[in-house]
Amino acid sequence: MGNTLILGAKIWDASGAPAFPGDVLVEGNRIRAVSRVPGQLSRADCEVIDAQGRTLMPGLVEGHMHMTFDGIKTGEDLTLLPPEEHTLVTLRMAKVMIDHGFTSCYSGASSKIRLEVVARNEINAGRYPGPRLRAATPEITVSGGLGDEDLLHYKRESFALVVDGVDAMTKLVRICCREGCDNVKLNVSGDPFKPSSPAEATPMTQREVDAAVEAAHSFGRMVNAHARSAEAMKRALRAGVDVLYHCEYADDEALDMLEAAKDRIFVAPTVSLFHTMLYEASEYGMTNQIAQSMGMARLLEWSQKTHGELRKRGIRHVIGGDYGFAWSHHGTNARDIGFFSDYFGYTPSEALQCATRNGGALMMAREGDRLGELSEGALADMLLVDGDPVSEPGLLLDKNRLLLIMKDGQLHKNETGAVRHRAAA
Ligand SMILES: [Zn+2]
Repeated sequence: MGNTLILGAKIWDASGAPAFPGDVLVEGNRIRAVSRVPGQLSRADCEVIDAQGRTLMPGLVEGHMHMTFDGIKTGEDLTLLPPEEHTLVTLRMAKVMIDHGFTSCYSGASSKIRLEVVARNEINAGRYPGPRLRAATPEITVSGGLGDEDLLHYKRESFALVVDGVDAMTKLVRICCREGCDNVKLNVSGDPFKPSSPAEATPMTQREVDAAVEAAHSFGRMVNAHARSAEAMKRALRAGVDVLYHCEYADDEALDMLEAAKDRIFVAPTVSLFHTMLYEASEYGMTNQIAQSMGMARLLEWSQKTHGELRKRGIRHVIGGDYGFAWSHHGTNARDIGFFSDYFGYTPSEALQCATRNGGALMMAREGDRLGELSEGALADMLLVDGDPVSEPGLLLDKNRLLLIMKDGQLHKNETGAVRHRAAA
């Protein structure tokens, strides 16, 4: 791997400090030097990129990715797709994500056990373009929970895996670990999409959650919990779950427990789903009235209240979540940066830190490496942006403004038009 020297960029390093002018040297897959004094770094053996007038920042991280979703309208769309087509969908979405500046994706859940596993392996082998990917299991649920589509008179497959009891849970989690999943997804609470177990219900027992976490952690894997009810958050936290999703209906005790675990856990609010279903999905049959009848307005209200409070308590929020529906296509995931400001009160710089530094910490929670920050020694995932994403985060949605996309020190895209190779000085 060659070295890359990026000269004269405005550097936004994700520390929270304002951007500053400087040069960055990448050696292999790491940021070797960040210089605030222009012209100090040696050009020897470097590919040199002139970045004058552009902003250099860490690559974006999706914190609750569903790489197997491509414009779905219902869960059934995932079940009906055969595994062969679904594998191709997953690879296509991987390319969409990195083309839009997401150099890392932490998966919330896959639709079949091995879809994201094989995509991750292809990407890591360099045979297919895509972000760093932590591959997830399908949603693991219990009878009657979110994702159990069976009825007594009508047997149906589902995007989820249904298990009941401690032994069955342990066995399923072990099988998913054997098959190569990095993250285990548990549907601990119910959901407005599931009348038998609404969002406030908590069908998965404490013992089942404990068993899943023990099995996953024994394999060194991470655990994500779908947790809309306060009781689901508490069960997840007691069991040692690593990532909590949604968390709308937190009570005071749940808020205190989340805060007490803030150095250990990550939280993805997934607010875009409510926003887009309420206001932007009518052309797909999801009118505002239907979304209201599904309780989306109430969820949005609670999401705003709970995550505004969690922001004040210093929770490590990550952006993204539940993109991939017909009304929220992959590639638009950076909209969450604006939603974090609009709904939760983050400044644009803070919301961008959720999208980079917090996400990088999530990706590397097991490896203990540094990602999502532009500092010496960190892994070299970077974007060179035409414009200022701190004052105008919306421009990150325009992939034509992403002039350079680097992952692990390798250039996925370079349209700076200013590259020249230099021999050793
Ligand atoms: Zn999800």
